[in-house]
Amino acid sequence: MNAPATATAPPVRTTCPYCGVGCGVIARPDGFGGASVQGDAAHPANFGRLCSKGAALGETLSLEGRLLHPMMRMGGDTHERTSWEVALDRVAQGFEETIARYGPDSVAFYVSGQFLTEDYYVANKLMKGFIGSANIDTNSRLCMASSVAGHKRAFGSDTVPGCYEDLDEADLLVLTGSNAAWCHPVLFQRMMENRRKRGARLVVIDPRRTATAEEADLALGLAPGTDQVLFAGLLVHLADTGVLDHSFIGRHTRDFDAALEAARILAPSIDAVSRRCDVPVTKLRTFFDWFRETERSVTLYSQGVNQSAQGTDKVNAIINCHLATGRIGKPGTGPFSLTGQPNAMGGREAGGLANQLAAHMGFEPESLDLVSRFWGTERLAARPGLKAVDLFEAVAQRRIKALWIMATNPAVSMPRADAVRASLRELDLLVVSDVVRNADAIMDAAHVLLPAAAWGEKDGTVTNSERRISRQRAFLAPPGDSKPDWWIMCEVARRMGFGEAFAFSSAADIFREHARLSAFENNGSRDFDVSGLANLTEAAYGELAPVQWPVTETKLAGEQRLFAEGRFFSADARARFVPIDHVGLARGCEPGFPFLLNTGRVRDHWHTMTRTGKSPRLAAHTDEPFVSVSPADAAELGIAEGGFARVTTLYGSATLRARISSGQRPREIFAPFHWTAETSSDGRVGALVQAANDIISGQPELKATAAALSPVTFTAHGFLLRRSLAAVPKGLWWARSAVEGGHGYRLAGNSLPAAWPDLARSLLGSEQTLVELLDDAQGWYRAALIADGRLEACLFLARNAEALPGWEWLKGQLAEPLLPDTARRALLAGRAPRSGHDEGPIVCACFGVGRSKICRGISHDGCHTVEDIGRTLRAGTNCGSCIPELRRIITEASSHATS
Ligand code: SF4
Repeated sequence: MNAPATATAPPVRTTCPYCGVGCGVIARPDGFGGASVQGDAAHPANFGRLCSKGAALGETLSLEGRLLHPMMRMGGDTHERTSWEVALDRVAQGFEETIARYGPDSVAFYVSGQFLTEDYYVANKLMKGFIGSANIDTNSRLCMASSVAGHKRAFGSDTVPGCYEDLDEADLLVLTGSNAAWCHPVLFQRMMENRRKRGARLVVIDPRRTATAEEADLALGLAPGTDQVLFAGLLVHLADTGVLDHSFIGRHTRDFDAALEAARILAPSIDAVSRRCDVPVTKLRTFFDWFRETERSVTLYSQGVNQSAQGTDKVNAIINCHLATGRIGKPGTGPFSLTGQPNAMGGREAGGLANQLAAHMGFEPESLDLVSRFWGTERLAARPGLKAVDLFEAVAQRRIKALWIMATNPAVSMPRADAVRASLRELDLLVVSDVVRNADAIMDAAHVLLPAAAWGEKDGTVTNSERRISRQRAFLAPPGDSKPDWWIMCEVARRMGFGEAFAFSSAADIFREHARLSAFENNGSRDFDVSGLANLTEAAYGELAPVQWPVTETKLAGEQRLFAEGRFFSADARARFVPIDHVGLARGCEPGFPFLLNTGRVRDHWHTMTRTGKSPRLAAHTDEPFVSVSPADAAELGIAEGGFARVTTLYGSATLRARISSGQRPREIFAPFHWTAETSSDGRVGALVQAANDIISGQPELKATAAALSPVTFTAHGFLLRRSLAAVPKGLWWARSAVEGGHGYRLAGNSLPAAWPDLARSLLGSEQTLVELLDDAQGWYRAALIADGRLEACLFLARNAEALPGWEWLKGQLAEPLLPDTARRALLAGRAPRSGHDEGPIVCACFGVGRSKICRGISHDGCHTVEDIGRTLRAGTNCGSCIPELRRIITEASSHATS
């Protein structure tokens, strides 16, 4: 565990490190290096609510897997511990030599939306301001670059016009390309509250019938890559039904006629939209009518819009409809980009993208002049650098010779992840700063590893989706030698001869300079202005309350909404309509690859699970990588629910558990991207994804890769529970998850029962005595290892997966310090001795309520509604992310009861 910051540390107000909702959190250090966590009732982003991920933050603070000391590669793939002095000298010298030999564009930084704004500011200043290259990009390129590009085309600036209060005040909430029920749960519950209280309608536009779509008043399951056609059709409908705000269009915008003309070509009639989007006319008509008649409309969008080769056009097609109706900047209106990462917005503010300079400025001559004077540098990069996909292609082509990766793992999350992983070996110098030691294969390739301080150990600010700047505050001492990222970069800058410009003494010091730059010769011409925070003392920075930018001397409380007066940040202060042409999928289905692979996330995990993967509670809902397949495709290919399927693309393949879902359109499949080579044998979905980009934003298409799908048959199925990590023999399919007291492995393979006792000895420990049971005729095998009265490990194998018991009860026994006699006798039965009940797969992660218990609540305890289940079992009463699933279970149970 971490060392406590102080033995009796008081509660600390901070911000959740996961999604862009930016929930306020109160952390209470326990004095032993851990902390309990609860929602901050005073934070305006969440008013005390947390989702399952935020609520489990206290379970993720262990030091397991942490990188605690600087390390250097000594030969082969082995690294040895070294001092900060030696490691920093090596990094600075390596970058200097590369720049001297090949020029500044031969080096690059790849950073992260997990960075704090202060980290971003220093990284950007060092690369663009003093190294003299703009080759710094961030994994936020994969998250919201298309929103940035769309905002800039429409508004002249990267500005989110509205605020979360608009979700309370809208009468129509349109979610497109957003599974907010799982990905932004606290905001989604806020929208549900609006629906309960004031009856707002909810429209969900998504190719999948997600948990969000299940809650909708109207769900449009459109074809992938056609959102822009649908919103072009809406623009035509608004024009033809006379609800345009001609006054707003005339006084505050340009290019409306061109945009409408293009929309009429793209979406000439509702029938044409229906054909192109594959949505029934009746549903389209309902949506168009609702939007037409509802003044207070908010359109929220996220990765389904952004992570697309047509992403920027999709964003502008949405914004066009809001500009055309003047529904922007007023309460309950506006286009609203939901950011994925905790500080995607802060990164944009500080210039973390290769095509931005700093403080929302670009590379135009006036901005270059302004920033070079402000930073006092003559080396400022004069043109944009390489965006993420191009950056890693340049690594593969050896145009980039030295790369510093900070707080992210491109070998998992980038498209064509296998190619990215291989390219890292080509570098003359690879530096990796991270919190964790085991970040897939990039650590092996690194020449220098630098231990970074984690959430709870460092200070800074983040900005959420509504432009609200909040403090992340330290409440634990950084363990080992770990240091804040900004400190590491300042030390390298000092060694490269730029010490004067990087003589920051604290995060507050950096924030003040960042705020001063936002104000420098601004005069209202730039949207990002936090001049009101430029003179914060250390104490005032320490106490800074959440505030929405812009924050100026005259508006210290910040501003909720922008553009209400119709003044935008273009040269003529007018917004621009953008004509949308048809851009098809980057690479559609084709012979040999008849499916479209869509990738995304699951409810309770975050990115590559380096943090959420430590929590047994969060692992319980989805504990293995899977692929969702439509019932028709599953029947045609002979893929069974709970069986396995192989997904193959031109770039790689993965074997995944098959889930048959009626929410999946035929010929489309979905797979989450969280699993790495550390947590699964064959589940790296990033390796399957093509590297096509939106040509304007450079954001990769992660939602539509041509794929093939085939069933996979295994002759053995099983699971392993162990207190310590296992070395699973090659040839077995496995997926690992955290369980109370140890690790759980789902297993599959092709061994025969005769070989299972040997397999058990290799997985459970051959030195020990096992209790075992082999039924060759029935085709199952069970073994347990008990030492000092407690369960050390157990292995269950069967020819048919249906012959396996659930593992929830056994997980509970692994967590017990001492195995009761009754449990000991029942161990190889795999279930509780008396009741015979197993909790079943966990549905409510907040209270650990399983499906079996919920079904019993319905069948035996008279639970007929979500509210009944909440009252009886507590499920669904905290974050609410499981409510759509509860509703589904109730529906299924009642249809069984009546059939
Ligand atoms: Fe964290 Fe959940 Fe809030 Fe997102 S919604 S910031 S993950 S608590």
